[in-house]
Amino acid sequence: MALYGIPNIEKFQGMEPLPGYPDINEVLELQYPGLKDIFDSFYSVLNAQPNWRDEIMFDRNEFPFEAAIAVPDENGRLITLAMASNNTRSSRGSLGHAETEAIFYGLKGEKHLPKGAVLLSSVEPCAMCATGFHNSGGEKVIFSAFQSDIRGKSTWVDDMSKPFRSEPESYSAKAFLLERNPAAVVIGGYRRQDALRYM
Ligand SMILES: [Zn+2]
Repeated sequence: MALYGIPNIEKFQGMEPLPGYPDINEVLELQYPGLKDIFDSFYSVLNAQPNWRDEIMFDRNEFPFEAAIAVPDENGRLITLAMASNNTRSSRGSLGHAETEAIFYGLKGEKHLPKGAVLLSSVEPCAMCATGFHNSGGEKVIFSAFQSDIRGKSTWVDDMSKPFRSEPESYSAKAFLLERNPAAVVIGGYRRQDALRYM
């Protein structure tokens, strides 16, 4: 049974995203106040770069991924603790995924993130980021596009066509978060089309 991506069932249960759930964004925004503002920030950062596919790669030399760590305030509204862009090209090498950057800054020198920490990401986190988040005490992941959406797609960097993600299917958030004990909550597909505009 494929339940992957259905917002009111907060775990991956299947393998493929289900297309065409018109209410997914609305449902998640009701369930997680503050969610929309954070993802608005992601897509305004990416939107600030016109012609991403053709030009920005040569300007900023980066892949179009955004991520944040947020924690619920006393009213349950998600408040951004740290937000980051992908940094693999400009400074951090292969460790500089947007998610690892957000986790690093969200930790603020501590070993663990605050209770209730949520990882928000424009694309389903990879194994490295999912593991880092889980090991930092994170409890929940919400993302836009699925790994399966971007698999096989590439962009131009340094005059070369580079794949967005080259890891195998099993190296994804669901494998590294749902098989942990306790399993994290993983929700995919929020504003999926917004993320895919840059892919
Ligand atoms: Zn990653």
